[in-house]
Amino acid sequence: MVSFKKSDAQGYFGNYGGRFLPPQLERPIAEVAEAYAEALKDPEFVAEWERLLAEYVGRPSPLYFAEKLSKHAGGAKIYLKREDLNHTGAHKINHCIGEALLAKRMGKKKVIAETGAGQHGVALATAAALVGLECEIHMGAIDVAKQRPNVVRMQLLGAKVVPVGENVAGGGALKEAVDSAFDVFARDYEDTMFAIGSVVGPDPYPNMVRDFQSIVGREAKEQILAHEGRLPDALVAAVGGGSNALGLFTEFLDDESVAIYGVEPAGKDLNTVGEHAATITFGTDGVIHGMQTLVLQDESGSPAPVHSIASGLDYPGVGPQHAFLKQEGRVTYETASDAETLEAFKALCKYEGIIPALESCHAVAYALKLAATLDKDKIIIVNLSGRGDKDIDYVAEKLGL
Ligand SMILES: *Cc1c(COP(=O)(O)O)cnc(C)c1O
Repeated sequence: MVSFKKSDAQGYFGNYGGRFLPPQLERPIAEVAEAYAEALKDPEFVAEWERLLAEYVGRPSPLYFAEKLSKHAGGAKIYLKREDLNHTGAHKINHCIGEALLAKRMGKKKVIAETGAGQHGVALATAAALVGLECEIHMGAIDVAKQRPNVVRMQLLGAKVVPVGENVAGGGALKEAVDSAFDVFARDYEDTMFAIGSVVGPDPYPNMVRDFQSIVGREAKEQILAHEGRLPDALVAAVGGGSNALGLFTEFLDDESVAIYGVEPAGKDLNTVGEHAATITFGTDGVIHGMQTLVLQDESGSPAPVHSIASGLDYPGVGPQHAFLKQEGRVTYETASDAETLEAFKALCKYEGIIPALESCHAVAYALKLAATLDKDKIIIVNLSGRGDKDIDYVAEKLGL
């Protein structure tokens, strides 16, 4: 029987996943896979990760009944899983601490990764400081210039930020940063572990990052049973690479009564290439970042340009498990536009006193629509993946404040 919850032994979720690597990366990645499989079986490793999540991150995060937001939607009860209240302000710290602990266990001195807008870089730099490892973050030169506060945060946390692609036409962005970080890893894997930022990349990363995130859904299930005495009717989460979504979904994948929705960025216009990042909705089979998955690509197979109001969702690929869950029909993928996302942002500020990340607002936007179609006794859980302090300058400009 196929499992919705994990890959087969070769890292495949149906046709998706696997390891598509240049020869020089095969050995380093295989080593990470072996070390992770062993670590999972070691109760001391798991206990140390859980201890840091409790004492350092502040878990469990609350599951909060957003009563006024629910009234505003005019239907089902909306609960928010408050990942925005974690140390560093988002869900990414959950897997970054797991990856840093694994690197330390493997005897490595350093973790290395790419970052787009800098959110993963900051979370990884935090985890590296905590665990006592060096940290090297590769970042597109354009992003370094645009995301100055995150660059400063990483530097304060002791990380080395490497700008990439200054000489590339159009300047360097996420793709160049990934290639550059993988290059250093291939050369220097004796001392270094690659620490990916979502449920993407070659096996074992999609399984590993999902395992580290699935604490979100385990807590949410326990919390909703305590609040309501029953399972929710629906789950909603935003999908970029897909880690916060699988974090919430995994524990519920075998509960048939729970409808599950992933929400992708429709951006400015779903009908124009380059104006959205709805990979699952419009992507086709391809290989990106070492995995077989759905990819937004042009005819030559190059990743298409993407856009979202939320830079954390700006990615032309998606975790292979999501491609599989879509194919199997277990998860329904919807979209929210930039405009709907901004409305959801305003609603959460106004009705609940919460300034949310624009990424998370994609999920809130769809949940508001869904709630309106459901009776008042129905229950929706939304993963509020992060806080919005990082977004206020951008939002102020959009709203003319
Ligand atoms: C990075 C990020 C996301 C998108 O990444 P996923 O892997 O899809 O979860 C969503 N929300 C926040 C707050 C983020 O920082």
